[in-house]
Amino acid sequence: MPELAATSADLPVAGCVEPKVLRERGQREVFCGLTGIVWLHRQIQDAFFLVVGSRTCAHLIQSAAGVMIFAEPRFATAIIDERDLAGLADMNAELDRVVGRLLERRPDIRLLFLVGSCPSEVIKLDLSRAAERLNGIHAPGVRVLNYSGSGIETTFTQGEDTCLASLVPVLPQEPQDAEPSLLVVGTLADVVQDQFIRLFDQLGIGPVRFLPPRRSTELPPVGPQTRFLLAQPFLAETGRALEERGAQHLVAPFPFGAEGTALWLHAAAEAWGTDEALFRSVTAAGRERAGRALEKHRAELADKQIFFFPDSQLEVPLARFLSRECGMRLVEVGTPYLHRRHLASELGLLPSDTAFSEGQDVEKQLDRCRAAAPDLIVCGLGLANPLEAEGFATKWAIELVFTPIHGFEQAGDLAELFARPLRRRDRIAV
Ligand code: SF4
Repeated sequence: MPELAATSADLPVAGCVEPKVLRERGQREVFCGLTGIVWLHRQIQDAFFLVVGSRTCAHLIQSAAGVMIFAEPRFATAIIDERDLAGLADMNAELDRVVGRLLERRPDIRLLFLVGSCPSEVIKLDLSRAAERLNGIHAPGVRVLNYSGSGIETTFTQGEDTCLASLVPVLPQEPQDAEPSLLVVGTLADVVQDQFIRLFDQLGIGPVRFLPPRRSTELPPVGPQTRFLLAQPFLAETGRALEERGAQHLVAPFPFGAEGTALWLHAAAEAWGTDEALFRSVTAAGRERAGRALEKHRAELADKQIFFFPDSQLEVPLARFLSRECGMRLVEVGTPYLHRRHLASELGLLPSDTAFSEGQDVEKQLDRCRAAAPDLIVCGLGLANPLEAEGFATKWAIELVFTPIHGFEQAGDLAELFARPLRRRDRIAV
């Protein structure tokens, strides 16, 4: 096992700084960005997500959200039907009517997202103009924004990115005399947010705010005194929008596992000039707990071969965690997009001979995967079932977004997500 870094001073000098990447463009097997609504609607508690789409979109959301029945759901689909497509109805007037009825019934809604889909994009329904028009009617009580969740050229985690990017222009400007503040960007479970708040507080870092906030009335201010940490690797557009507002990105590995979490916290500690000895003492207990929680999983995962199909955009940080903290061997790390700047510190921690692929040509990738016969395959739902039928153990990438996996306290749970399918396969084989 490599010596794990506790601060940036411990980082190895080598690593995969010039990654060899196989770029592929072909048939892809991914979910669309509407999926993000499933976790975003839980986070922003006074928001509502109105998908402007087809019955397929409505089914996708319903099945991705599982069998949850809500007395007052926070998402719905305004269905574009044949009449609309034939141009027999004025879709804008219908949309205004649907929104009016919704807001009348649900006075608790403060933020309404109109979410674009493949059908709304194909027929070129302009949802940004619709949002502007509806704001004219319903502001200031309700703010209306729009973003795209369509599956045209996107992966399922991009829905969160486009949603958060749509919020950036409406974040308040920080005051002229603002002190430095930290913005943590990306949806995190409440329990994880609370753990990070405690750690930042002990490190003397603050004020700390989160995007998305728990309520739309608590939008964090942004400006040149804002330093931001990305909590998820798939937030390229949101990061760019924040930088355009003057905020400074603290590039760091992502907070998965003991090492990733320590280095992520350390990026903020460096920006705040936190004393190194204080940093090590504040994070020591968390690192030790994470190390202990990982021990039992390491025995199951070490030397097992893992193959990532491109899906969630979490592949590179997870490959780093699994290789460095769990001893797994990386056969191929496929990712939809390899954002070299955001992933720079991750790449530096991966073995220099790691095989990356970006984009997908699914048949060719399946051939490579079968030939390598890995112990575990991380992929989307569409590939998992056929691969299981062929005798492979698989992990659904989407579970990694639905489960709290960030931070020291969740490191054991994260490793468990990968150990479980191996255990299940062993039981079936006996
Ligand atoms: S947005 Fe596109 S890919 Fe997603 S469910 Fe609707 S039609 Fe399907």
